Amino acid sequence: MRIANVAGRSTLLDPSGAGLDVGKASDGRFASEPQALFEQWDEFRDWAATQEGRADVAVDPGDLNAPTPRPRQVFAIGLNYAEHINESGMGRPPAPAVFTKFPTCIAGPNDTVSLPSGNVDWEVELVVAIGRLARGVEESEGWGHVAGLMVGQDLSERVVQLVGPVPQFSLGKSYPGFGPVGPALVTVDEIPNPDDLELGCRLGDEVLQLGRTRDLIFSVPELVARLSAVCPLLPGDIIFTGTPSGAGNARDPKRFLPPGGVLTSHIEGIGELRNELAAGPSYDSTG
Ligand code: ZN
Repeated sequence: MRIANVAGRSTLLDPSGAGLDVGKASDGRFASEPQALFEQWDEFRDWAATQEGRADVAVDPGDLNAPTPRPRQVFAIGLNYAEHINESGMGRPPAPAVFTKFPTCIAGPNDTVSLPSGNVDWEVELVVAIGRLARGVEESEGWGHVAGLMVGQDLSERVVQLVGPVPQFSLGKSYPGFGPVGPALVTVDEIPNPDDLELGCRLGDEVLQLGRTRDLIFSVPELVARLSAVCPLLPGDIIFTGTPSGAGNARDPKRFLPPGGVLTSHIEGIGELRNELAAGPSYDSTG
C-alpha cells in the first residue's frame, strides 16, 4: 500500500492515485496526523488492507508533504556504494559511516528548496521508515521492522560540511528543505525485489546519478541490525541509506545545484520527487 501526507493528513492512495482520508474513513480510530500513524502501524496496516476500492478524493501533487514529517531520529549513512567511495577517494568502511540530518530539514516531495550558497550538492537515496520498535534486531529480521520506503535527497552544503578539522556532515546536510522525502511511503510488500531498485536523479533533462540499491555495501536489513545494536529505532524514524556515484563534489570540475533548476529524483516502484531550486539567503560558510 501507499500512504501519503496530503496537506497534513494521512491518506491511503489507490493505484490510480486517488486518496482515502485515514482519520475520516476509520472514524478516528487511526491518526490523521501522519507522524502519529507510525505508533499504530501494525494495526493500521491490517485495517488498510480492507479498504481497497474506497479511495474517493483526487489528490493534488502540490498538496503532498513528507510522509514522515517529524521523525524523532533521522539516520543517514555515508559511503555506502562502492563507486561513490571510489569517487570520494575514501576507503571501504568497516562499519557504516553514520550521521544525522536534523529533523527540521525534512521537506515534502514537491517542495521548492532554497539554496543557501552556490555549494549545494545532490545525493539521491533510498529512505527507509521504521514501523516497529527495533532494538538489537538480527539482520534476518531487519525488513520486518520497516514500515515502507521512500525516495529521498540528502542535499548537502559542501563547504559547511567539510570546513574545519573534522567534517560537519550533520550540519552541512541540515538546512531547511535539505531532506525532501516521498512522494508516498510504499510498503515493502508492494515492491517485487526491495533489495534491487534503480535509483537516480536529474537536473532538468540531464542525468546526474543512476544506480541500483543492490550495490549497497550495508543493505537495509544490515543497517537496521547495526543501528539498532546501539540506538533503539523508533516507529516513524527514518534512515537515508547512502547515495550512488555521480555527486557534484566528486566531479572535476566540481558542480553544484543552480537556482532556477529542477531536481528530479526517482526510485523504481516508489516514485519521484520534483524539487525546484531557488536562490536563498547568502551565507558566509567559513565564519
Ligand atoms: Zn548521503
